[in-house]
Amino acid sequence: MSETERAPATFTEAVTELEATGYDSMGFSIEDGAVVCLECNAAHDQGAVGVGGMLRYATGAGEGHVFALACPDCSAHGLLFAGPEAMAGGTGDIIDALTARLR
Ligand SMILES: [Zn+2]
Repeated sequence: MSETERAPATFTEAVTELEATGYDSMGFSIEDGAVVCLECNAAHDQGAVGVGGMLRYATGAGEGHVFALACPDCSAHGLLFAGPEAMAGGTGDIIDALTARLR
């Protein structure tokens, strides 16, 4: 088993692991400066959602993030995928704020 074969599997395994720990809802997205729960369509300030964990991954375009989040309204636990392109503008500020809450 080489390192190059191992790396992408680790990301997939990590996401599968998060889903297995209960983060298996439809997930979350970032829209208009808010974190939106795709189960109940509620928009939340980043400070209102629960942050259970975060993974970083690298693509040719830069660094992406996967957050394990919990909705304060409907209690759904799901994943927020933010690719390298999401780091631009206000969405990047939300990603930074969510990351800071894990420290
Ligand atoms: Zn919800």
